[in-house]
Amino acid sequence: MQIRENISLKSYNSFGIDIQAKYFGAFQNVAELEDLLRSNDIQTSRTHLILGGGSNVLFTKNFDGAVLKNDINGIEVVKEDEDYVYIKAGGGENWHSFVMHCIEKGFAGVENLSLIPGNAGASPMQNIGAYGVEIKDVFHELEAFHIRDKYLRTFSAEDCAFGYRESVFKSRYKNQFVICNVTFRLNKQPKYNTSYGAIQQELDRLGVKELSLRTVSQAVANIRSSKLPDPKILGNAGSFFKNPQIGVQQFEELKQKFPSVVGFPVGADSIKVAAGWLIEQCEWKGYRNGDAGCYEKQALVLVNYGNATGKEILELSEQIIQSINKKFGVLLEREVNII
Ligand SMILES: Cc1cc2nc3c(=O)[nH]c(=O)nc-3n(C[C@H](O)[C@H](O)[C@H](O)COP(=O)(O)OP(=O)(O)OC[C@H]3O[C@@H](n4cnc5c(N)ncnc54)[C@H](O)[C@@H]3O)c2cc1C
Repeated sequence: MQIRENISLKSYNSFGIDIQAKYFGAFQNVAELEDLLRSNDIQTSRTHLILGGGSNVLFTKNFDGAVLKNDINGIEVVKEDEDYVYIKAGGGENWHSFVMHCIEKGFAGVENLSLIPGNAGASPMQNIGAYGVEIKDVFHELEAFHIRDKYLRTFSAEDCAFGYRESVFKSRYKNQFVICNVTFRLNKQPKYNTSYGAIQQELDRLGVKELSLRTVSQAVANIRSSKLPDPKILGNAGSFFKNPQIGVQQFEELKQKFPSVVGFPVGADSIKVAAGWLIEQCEWKGYRNGDAGCYEKQALVLVNYGNATGKEILELSEQIIQSINKKFGVLLEREVNII
């Protein structure tokens, strides 16, 4: 365990923002995390940031505190019954590698979440989701370490209070717990979910006659690669904004004014409006100012063409939020964690 000082976080965040962290330490197990937290530098730090793969953060200034990088690895089946396996992933396991591991073993439920960047430990943070599946659908429990009071607590799905790109770790317990491992309940018999987006179309294009976890994963990966920029080539953090949820009445009024507005019902009372559509209507798609831009193929994604600062990207996001509020009376919320 080593604590480094004043190190650049450029290679630790998918936006590729070059800022410095005052202290930086990585831990491979809970004992090492405790050691780090006991060290003088970290104890006296003004603030802490738990870092996984850095694919959902935007650094807007140097971080004047301690960055604690979760490198807890390991994947193990902890129990099984006739229908399910319960598989535990260390918080530092790369998410996509974990998905591939499950697919190889024939464990079903996470195949639609293929190719999402980041680590398993961050997956409950915002209840990651894609192609009709969210973490909450396969989540069993997690263990998290309380930074101040130094104890390990088990959280059930109910404790996590999962919502759309939300959990208790983004609200009530923000920056209080380190998620050390997550246990998922996966199906022994796949229940394929191919109705969302263009999955079926892509399966047809691939000439798939019989579904398998591997082919569904491949279809999802192909669609994602065609739409989303690879952070290794073009800095980004995936969708920068959430799809806003508005009341049915407000949606009806919007539809009167803008008949092509795209929305999906959520329960009986609200509609999730496609933020990408709103952003495109305000002509941000493909916009670039210096090295900060709005991705040309997907308006929800803000990108760093090279040397943009986090502040520039944040400012661009603010301009987008204001223009959408002005035109549609809808307030966009950022999905990315602003640091
Ligand atoms: C190209 C691209 C596509 C994406 N597509 C999707 C998508 O389809 N669906 C989706 O939901 N997301 C998507 N994302 C966002 C991102 O991949 C996820 O949010 C992912 O879970 C972030 O994981 P991470 O390890 O990189 O987290 P980080 O960026 O390191 O951290 C994110 C937040 O979680 C906290 N955190 C991280 N690890 C822990 C821990 N162990 N304990 C406590 N707090 C922690 C951090 O402090 C921070 O606030 C995409 C991102 C990119 C770049």
